[in-house]
Amino acid sequence: MGEKIKKLSLKWKLFFYLICFCAILLGILWLFQTVMLDYFYRSIKSVEIKSSADTLSRNIDRQDLSYLLEDIAKEGELSIRIVSEDASVLYAEDFNSSSVFRKMSPQDFLAIISAANANGGIYDVKNAFSYLDTRIEPAQGKDFDRREPSPIPGQSFTYAKITKTAEGKTVAIILNAMISPVNATVTTLRYQLYVVTAIMLILSVILALFMAKRVSKPIEEINKSAKLLATGNYDTQFCGKGFLEINELSETLNTTANELLKVESLRRELLANISHDLRTPISLIYSYAEVMHDFPDEITPKQTQIIMDEADRLSRLVNDILDISKLESGNQELNLTVYNLTESISATTNRVAELIKQEGYKLSFNYAREVEVCADETKITQVIYNLLINAINYTGSDKTITIKQLIIDDYVRIEVSDSGEGISPDDLPHIWDRYYKVDKNHRRAITGTGLGLSIVKKVISLHQGKYGVESQVGMGSTFWFSLKFKNMF
Ligand code: ADP
Repeated sequence: MGEKIKKLSLKWKLFFYLICFCAILLGILWLFQTVMLDYFYRSIKSVEIKSSADTLSRNIDRQDLSYLLEDIAKEGELSIRIVSEDASVLYAEDFNSSSVFRKMSPQDFLAIISAANANGGIYDVKNAFSYLDTRIEPAQGKDFDRREPSPIPGQSFTYAKITKTAEGKTVAIILNAMISPVNATVTTLRYQLYVVTAIMLILSVILALFMAKRVSKPIEEINKSAKLLATGNYDTQFCGKGFLEINELSETLNTTANELLKVESLRRELLANISHDLRTPISLIYSYAEVMHDFPDEITPKQTQIIMDEADRLSRLVNDILDISKLESGNQELNLTVYNLTESISATTNRVAELIKQEGYKLSFNYAREVEVCADETKITQVIYNLLINAINYTGSDKTITIKQLIIDDYVRIEVSDSGEGISPDDLPHIWDRYYKVDKNHRRAITGTGLGLSIVKKVISLHQGKYGVESQVGMGSTFWFSLKFKNMF
């Protein structure tokens, strides 16, 4: 059953729940209106009659007692007798002429008074009506007192309260309320309920259809657009309206579609760039190899160096692409070890400095003390290497690159600063994106893959570290990252 409901469309599910809700409501209504009506009616009557008796008892000495009696009789549809101990009637008020009191003899009143006296001054309602019914209904019977009380609920309630007046006279307040049989009412109500049930069913069908349409229509539209998106149509716009959640969903999907569109255009750009990047070193390698093949005696170290450099560039490009795809696939695990970060950076810096010494680059690494971190050394070295390569590529004419190690609270922060052109505020937020290159014209001197910083971002994020850049056009750039070095991970 549960499985079946799960598979139902929203429309039918809504309908099902609405019908269940109506069924419960109707069930309660039926229960109260038919089965329990008699019980409620009798309970209310019983409470009313008791409170009327109390009111009268409190006001027994009032001059205008007869008026009060009239009011109470009218309001509660009651017949009232106030009788003295010897059953002589002091006050009488009947709501209608069919009052049972009119059929009662002084002996009957005496019987009630004595029963009340025996019961602490109160003549109990239940006893009252069963007693009276068995006594009064046969009307002709004169030997009521000897009859057993009838177990069938009677047609009226009788309640008596013995009280004393200010003069010390004992009087009995006897009230009688007619109980109209609820059977007729129940039949009427039942017919009404049939009609109400039918109306409710029709209404819930209409409501379910209406609600389902309002809820499922935007979802269906979003689904349609999502299917379009899945076919690679990234311009798809999602326009689900009507509900907060659906609005949010379509906004999220719009953002997703936009992101996909961006990635797609970056991917196309990258393909163009990569093929350009690949073609140039390959053609260079080919032409120099050709020269070397044709003139083996004229091979110069410059030629072999060019072939080596270009092959190196090729492998860097391929490695970057492999790295980022591995990092992005999410199954890259960190090989965490505790190692001396300062020493590792120092070694990398020295290695790079040695390579570019001849070209006049100056690299310096400043630190106050050595720190250890728990991190993946190979990956962090790659981060430093990427930042260094960028700094070397983009630094200004003084060819200076400064690396700093700072300690801020529990974090060690590594800064790589250059004196280059800096990055414009428009480009700053995007440089961490894959394949993003500020210089689209692709200057030959600077050969980037557009992946270096996204590798930095991924690796540092995997280490739960922070990263960033401070740069102003014309003022150089400072790229930084920080890792926790105390109580690590
Ligand atoms: P690339 O391989 O092209 O350098 P990156 O992801 O490392 O790719 O960098 C993205 C872009 O950020 C670069 O194309 C460059 O425009 C800019 N950039 C990175 N580092 C620097 C820097 N030190 N100075 C100026 N611009 C930089």
